[in-house]
Amino acid sequence: DYEQAYLGHGYKELAIPPGPGGQFALDPHALHIWPRGGSMMIALPNADGSFTCTVFWPLEGRGSFAAFRTPEDLALFFSATYPDALGLMPTLTADYFRNPTGTLVTIRSRPWYYRDRVVLLGDACHAVVPFYGQGANAAFEDCAVLSETLARHAPDREAAFAQYESLRKPHTDALADLSLANFVEMRDHSASRAFRLTRRLEQELHRLFPRRFVPLYTLVTFTRTPYAEAVARARRQARALKATAAAAAAVVLVVALWLLLGRGGGR
Ligand SMILES: Cc1cc2nc3c(=O)[nH]c(=O)nc-3n(C[C@H](O)[C@H](O)[C@H](O)COP(=O)(O)OP(=O)(O)OC[C@H]3O[C@@H](n4cnc5c(N)ncnc54)[C@H](O)[C@@H]3O)c2cc1C
Repeated sequence: DYEQAYLGHGYKELAIPPGPGGQFALDPHALHIWPRGGSMMIALPNADGSFTCTVFWPLEGRGSFAAFRTPEDLALFFSATYPDALGLMPTLTADYFRNPTGTLVTIRSRPWYYRDRVVLLGDACHAVVPFYGQGANAAFEDCAVLSETLARHAPDREAAFAQYESLRKPHTDALADLSLANFVEMRDHSASRAFRLTRRLEQELHRLFPRRFVPLYTLVTFTRTPYAEAVARARRQARALKATAAAAAAVVLVVALWLLLGRGGGR
């Protein structure tokens, strides 16, 4: 049971070198995103003061990797699409034409083991697209779970492999879906005011009720909550929020009606 699904987008790494004196050219405590609807560039800080930028562009068509054949084409596109970043990227042309264009694939497979001889971990059995930054983390979680099942079933390795796969598979499948959905969110929605307002509201709710409300991104990125459980909890929270908002709206409506009718009756 094996599936590999490629995105129509690829990626390429570029660089923002350190500024004069070795300091960061951008805030190093942020994930920088240039969302452009259908494509994007991100930048992540390195320990030496530089940033690694990654462009995620279509492989073909307008604004794609196939569209830029000369340094002039590239410079024109960057000055129109990422004007604030262009001045920070003196090695853009060399980086762009030297660095490879990578593809982005989701792999779902089963089984992950053969008898008691071979077992797969990490990308070999569940590669995901990199938009939740969890691929390596998921591989480390595989190691932790496999280590536990090996200890629990020793010396029966096949039973340990079978339990490891059944414990991990639902969560790596959930991560594959989360990672694909986050690409759309990062490139198409993260610039919108509604998106940022929702994120701020989630953070505020988490600050007020740190145990009862934990945003999905926080659950996935900063806790060891297994991915499928994080998704289920986020759905429960969203339902509860909707119910609370509906109840609050109903109360406001009743109070407004009461005030209106009360005022009308008093005349
Ligand atoms: C652009 C991008 C950004 C990412 N960002 C993040 C992130 O921010 N956070 C995160 O957690 N994950 C991230 N990931 C995912 C992460 O890189 C992978 O999930 C992780 O490297 C998987 O580790 P692995 O050991 O399973 O496989 P790999 O890292 O692919 O290791 C497999 C190794 O096996 C070697 N190999 C292959 N075939 C053979 C052979 N026949 N003989 C001997 N050796 C062989 C390969 O050369 C390779 O070194 C990102 C991935 C990409 C593409």
